[in-house]
Formats: sequence, structure tokens, C-alpha cells
Amino acid sequence: MTDRYASFVQSAAGRALVKRLGLPDPPRLRRHHPGDPLLAGPALLGAATGGRLAEPITKILTAAGVELADPTGATPQRYGALLFDATGITDSTELRQLYDFFHPQARAVLPSGRVIVLGTPPQECPTPREATAQRALEGLVRSIGKEFGRGSTAQLVYVTRTGGDTADGPTLSADTATSLESTLRFLLSGRSAYVSGQVIRVGGGAASAPADWNRPLDGQVVLVTGAARGIGAALAKVLARDGAQVVALDIPAAGDALAAVANDIGGTAVQLDLTAPDAPARLAEHLASRHGRVDVVVHNAGITRDKTLGRMDADRWDQVIDVNLSSQERINDVLLERELIPAGGRVISVSSIAGIAGNRGQTNYATSKAGVIGLVDSLAPALRERGISVNAVAPGFIETRLTARIPLVVREAGRRMNSLAQGGLPVDVAETIGWLAWPASGAVSGNVVRVCGQSLLGA
Ligand code: NAD
Repeated sequence: MTDRYASFVQSAAGRALVKRLGLPDPPRLRRHHPGDPLLAGPALLGAATGGRLAEPITKILTAAGVELADPTGATPQRYGALLFDATGITDSTELRQLYDFFHPQARAVLPSGRVIVLGTPPQECPTPREATAQRALEGLVRSIGKEFGRGSTAQLVYVTRTGGDTADGPTLSADTATSLESTLRFLLSGRSAYVSGQVIRVGGGAASAPADWNRPLDGQVVLVTGAARGIGAALAKVLARDGAQVVALDIPAAGDALAAVANDIGGTAVQLDLTAPDAPARLAEHLASRHGRVDVVVHNAGITRDKTLGRMDADRWDQVIDVNLSSQERINDVLLERELIPAGGRVISVSSIAGIAGNRGQTNYATSKAGVIGLVDSLAPALRERGISVNAVAPGFIETRLTARIPLVVREAGRRMNSLAQGGLPVDVAETIGWLAWPASGAVSGNVVRVCGQSLLGA
């Protein structure tokens, strides 16, 4: 589905009209193309006194080919990214260092630029004062996401300080360092075009760096449910591009479209209704006999059956809960029981901002999608011991057939009510799931990452 308004705004006549009337001005977002540099310009790195991450971040950025700007450089520059290591901040009075770093650069960020603040998870802080100051970072980041504009995004990354302790004090463990690298590579690149205002926790879990960061999923067997169209089809494409062997699953009625997706990417197709009583066993047998395992399970299939609660028949309720939530649980149970998801494996579910904010006419859908978040919260700690990470993405307004069915006025409101003033594309959700699936992202677990352009809903 195309956003005609956004295309018009990007024309010369559109630009003039938007300026004169003060209309929403959706910028053209920088999206990833293989071989692209991570950033459109140099990165400026700042750090609070006593921070612990400047060194590993410098190493990661240098390895990724990012040009680091000289903070003392006399000529004013424009930056592809501003990064600030705030882990040294231990008291609210020290938050001033954020102002001192960001204030002079607020207008120096290039279009589709990136702002990343790194902190320590408040629950790991030794004093209430430090925990308070670290929690405060969220307000800064979310506000920058709303202020800087022109397609720029802002995120807070909390990096654990446990796991790599030495006699000299806490250092990053190798796993955390690898997942910090995968996370920075994702957030800085065009892959995260529609992700903004997010808080991501890195730490706790095993991670391995790829031989080639352009093929971060090389050799991984990935199951994608609901792969015949929409977000699932984009997912199959992105994961295959990044090196995965994709097993694409959808209902038999979508068999032709599913076969087209699978053929296009050299993957395999499985026609299966996930709600069938024997679906988990049949799927497990297919994966065991064809591949012997499944490294990444992406639960993407989902349906809506909207009605206000008073008018909703029980069938609509049951179908939505069963497809969107219960079938995921049944499949996880069987794949885990049969040990088909090995150490280093990933379970990634697709939730929705409706599961965070609720939505009129979607009690069934929002319940199922909030349940998906519950699934992440409850499974992640248990599966960490088996070396398996569990995360969810929560898309906002994404341009698919699902959203094309929304009445025009509501659809237009949904599109514009976010910091980027436009709907996301299926590829934006796919790239985010891709990053969570990388072997290098194993120390990112228990997160729910919204792909919503920092939607005002459920903020
Ligand atoms: P879509 O309707 O285009 O695709 C969903 C796919 O799931 C279809 O191919 C369908 O055949 C398949 N499917 C449905 N029931 C199934 C079953 N029982 N067994 C096997 N396959 C089944 O939807 P989409 O927009 O691509 O959404 C994908 C996911 O993203 C869903 O979980 C949806 O809830 C979620 N989501 C979408 C948006 C959005 O704006 N499009 C927003 C938030 C969340």
C-alpha cells in the first residue's frame, strides 16, 4: 500500500504547500541496502566522567568503518550520529553532562541521523541515587526522538555491568561486547529506520560474532510463520538476504503465494494451519527430518477479527487468541521438549502496539498481543539457561493489507501520529527481527522492541 500524501510531500509542489500550511512533513527515511556504510556522516562520541563504555564503543565503531569526529575540531561539522556513554553518571546533579554534550549539537545531526545514549540498567546500580539518574536517561532520549526530526531516531541502550568482572572492577564480558556490537550496528544503520524512542537492554546470554557482518545469519535455519504475504514475506526475504535458510510456513489456502515467496529466496515452504491439533507435531517432524533443528523461530502469523466487546461473538475471540497466542505456546512447547531449538537458538514473537496501548474494537487482538509480551517475560529467564533468547517486536502502523482495511480517516491518523509522521514498511519490522535473530545478538533477551516510529499510542 502506498502513502500518497508522503509521496506528494516529497515533490517540489508538495514541499511548498506543506511549508505554507504547516502540514505534517514525513521525511524520506534512510533504509538499509547491502554494502551501505552504517552512517551518512561521522559519529561524535561523548562520555560522562567515569564512564566504562567509551573504549569498547570506539573499538566497535572503528571496526564497523565509522568515521569518528574529533570533538575538539575547530570547524563545525554535521554528524551521522551522536553517541553518549552515560554510565559514569551516578547522581542527578551529574545529568548536566548530557545537556553539555547534546545542546551544542542539537542542530548538527544529518537527516536520518542517529542518537544513542548508553547507560547502566537501574536495577543493577549500587545506590538509589545512581539508579534514579540512570532511569532519568529515558526522558532525554524519548524527547530527543520527538525533537530532532528529519528522520532521525533516538534510543537508550542499557548495558549490563555484570558478567565480566576482573580484579580491576567490572568490564564487559565477551558475549555482552558482541551483542553491544550487533545492537549498535543495527541502530546506527538504515535497518532501524522506523525504530525510535526505544529502551534496549543488552547483557546475559551467549553471543557469537559472525565471520562476515554482511551475512549475519549465515547457516542459520529460520522458521517464519505467516510468510505468504505482508510482514512475513518481507521477513523471509530479509533473513535469506542475511544468509539464513528459511522455512516459510502459511495456511494451505495461501499455498501459491507461499510457494512464490519460498522459490524467490531459495527457501522451503510448509503449508500448515497453526491451529490444527496436530500442527506442532507435524511441524516438529518436518524440521527434524529436513534440518535436524531450527535455530530461529519467528512467530509472525496473526489475524484480526475486530468488533467492540459487546458485539463480539465468541468465535472471533477464540480464533484470535488461538492463532496469535495459544498456537505459539503449543509450538514452543513441542520444539523445546524435543530439543529442536539448540543452544544459541532464538524465539521471536510479533506483538503489536495494540498489546501495549489497547485499542477500541480489538479486545481480542490486544489481549493476544499483550499475552505475547507475557510470553517473552516468562520464557526469557527460563530459556536463558539453555542459551536461547526470547524477544518480541511490537509493530505500530505498518503499510500492509491489514492496515489497508482500516477506514481512511483512522488510517491517516494512525500513519501520522508518530515522530516520523508516516507508516512503517514491512521491511522495517523484518530488519528488526533480523537483528534479534543474529547469533551475535544472543545477549539481547527479554526485550520488547517497538517498530512504530515512536508512536504516540501507548507511549
Ligand atoms: P497479514 O494478514 O498480511 O499476514 C498474516 C499471515 O499469517 C497471512 O499470510 C496468513 O495467511 C497467515 N496466517 C493467519 N492464520 C494462520 C494460521 N492459522 N496458520 C498459518 N498461517 C496463518 O498480516 P501482517 O500485517 O503481515 O501481520 C503480520 C504480523 O504482524 C501479525 O502477527 C500482526 O498481528 C502483526 N502486526 C501487524 C501490524 C500492521 O500494521 N500490519 C501492526 C502490528 C502488528
